[in-house]
Amino acid sequence: MIRVILNGARGRMGRAILHCAAQHADLEIAAQVDQGDDLAGALNRGDVVVDFSVPTVTEQLLDLCTKHGKALVLGTTGHEEKTRAMIRECARRIPIVWASNFSTGVNTLFWLVERAAQVLGPGYDLEIVEMHHRHKQDAPSGTARTLAEILARVRKHQLDRVVRHGRHGLVGPRGAEEIGIHALRGGDVVGDHTVIFATQGERLELTHRASSRETFAHGALRAARWVAGRPAGLYDMQDVLGLRSAGA
Ligand code: NAD
Repeated sequence: MIRVILNGARGRMGRAILHCAAQHADLEIAAQVDQGDDLAGALNRGDVVVDFSVPTVTEQLLDLCTKHGKALVLGTTGHEEKTRAMIRECARRIPIVWASNFSTGVNTLFWLVERAAQVLGPGYDLEIVEMHHRHKQDAPSGTARTLAEILARVRKHQLDRVVRHGRHGLVGPRGAEEIGIHALRGGDVVGDHTVIFATQGERLELTHRASSRETFAHGALRAARWVAGRPAGLYDMQDVLGLRSAGA
């Protein structure tokens, strides 16, 4: 039995994980932690920490997981670069599955987007559109950022130099290297992502729409099962789903 410590247990994702955990017979939610609870005290009750909380708590979480030698499934998004660097550093000592999106469909989208960008080549303009519910704290979504990172990597560009977050005013013609990202917010949208490849005479659009948080919850629990007992390292859902060995 793999014992999971759930951080952010009272949030939307935390509740979805609690709901889905019953369908994973080999996993047990051994501790539920949220703001104000004793995370350090809960750590010795489990093997893997699954975190869907807030980015400001990630550094403390990394410290504790490293100190106690716990595997970590990190679903929280919206981290500053300093925290992102710390995640990479801690993965030298503990196994971490870090994914901006735990859904199988979105990870297939990542795989497809990489291939489409390779096949279509540099003559296509790249735009990403995402939409989420009105409560979402960070923008653009972590998934949109991952999609942009994949596109920049295929084009051999540094993302920070080519990314364009929305457009407003007299922006002039679009630069050929730009990767546009547009964040829409409203209602109860769980998460929509579209990548557009546009050129003279045609446009290819790849879209994923999540209609329930269960897809992320099952993916995170699958990651918890996969990461338990692994050697230290930084992994993502491409590793968990075996997409990397399929050529990603
Ligand atoms: P939410 O606001 O519903 O839940 C966040 C929870 O974290 C709340 O219960 C809050 O009380 C708790 N929290 C706040 N401070 C805390 C602390 N110090 N320690 C422990 N818990 C604390 O948000 P949500 O929609 O559940 O999303 C949570 C995070 O997961 C966000 O960063 C979101 O972007 C991300 N997310 C990731 C994926 C993915 O697949 N990677 C999918 C959905 C959401």
